[in-house]
Amino acid sequence: MIIKECEIPLKVHMIEALMRRLPPDHARQPILNLDIKKIKAGYSGEYRVLSTLNALPEKEYLLFHDLRLIGSPFPFQMDILILTSYFLLIIEVKNMAGEIYFDNTFNQLIRTNPDGKTEAFDDPILQVNRQRQQLLEWLKSKKIINIPVETLVVSANSSTIIRAENRDINRKVIRKDSILIKIGEFKEKYKKKILSTRDMKRISTVLLDEHTLYIPKLLESYGIPINALQTGVYCHKCYAFSMERRLRKWICRICLHSSHDAHISALQDYVCLVKPTITNSEFRQFLQLKSPSSAKKLLTSLKLNHSGHTKGRVYSLRSIIEDRTK
Ligand SMILES: [Zn+2]
Repeated sequence: MIIKECEIPLKVHMIEALMRRLPPDHARQPILNLDIKKIKAGYSGEYRVLSTLNALPEKEYLLFHDLRLIGSPFPFQMDILILTSYFLLIIEVKNMAGEIYFDNTFNQLIRTNPDGKTEAFDDPILQVNRQRQQLLEWLKSKKIINIPVETLVVSANSSTIIRAENRDINRKVIRKDSILIKIGEFKEKYKKKILSTRDMKRISTVLLDEHTLYIPKLLESYGIPINALQTGVYCHKCYAFSMERRLRKWICRICLHSSHDAHISALQDYVCLVKPTITNSEFRQFLQLKSPSSAKKLLTSLKLNHSGHTKGRVYSLRSIIEDRTK
């Protein structure tokens, strides 16, 4: 049973927001376009693996997509985690076209594109082993001990050619189509029931409660100053930043499309690109809204958590970013 669904990664929404708010000919547009394609390819691989895993008996196998837990010394993120009464399994998904080569000497993964270009990546076997160590620590801190934790690297692309220096790698790296067989092997290996159904429910709740969203600092990582961003409210029909507030509605001055909630998309862009809180004056500046009282009405209507009073009131946009990932 899928407990934590496969959702489009927040970073995709963030890069889309950035691309929308930069001029089309901005020097960073090509790299943003490339990065968004890479993240989407990763996501589609994870989606395909999770769809295959959905065939597992739903009460025995609890599936979590993209969990990020606060570990020591740093947070760790797992593409897919499977929780059973007998063992846990962490899956790192790779969705790379062409040929991939596991280089044990230097612990790297070398990918050769179909066009012959080579690129090096961190060794996913090491990555997933690190996640295992951190998950074991995390489980210990929750007084969950003695449950075996297995790891796998799964290649989601059926056309990928997998090569390795060390043949033993096939115990740790498999193709998506072998995953159910491999899980069957783990089931044979671990016959001792360690977690009751109640334990599974409890761990499942804790995992969901302790999942923390990672909000990367996008402008900083791409070296883009905040004043390069286009402000204003964009039209959902013609995509121009041309929405104006008139008679309690947003009207596009180009195509005349009208909307009651176009300010929410603008706020989603703000929280993705600027920061997770906003004041009335920052709201007016980003949305190009003149009237403080309309700004106050719009912000109040969103029922956001807030602190402070009158002009100094700071609204939290946490719920806006959480909605963004759904
Ligand atoms: Zn329009």
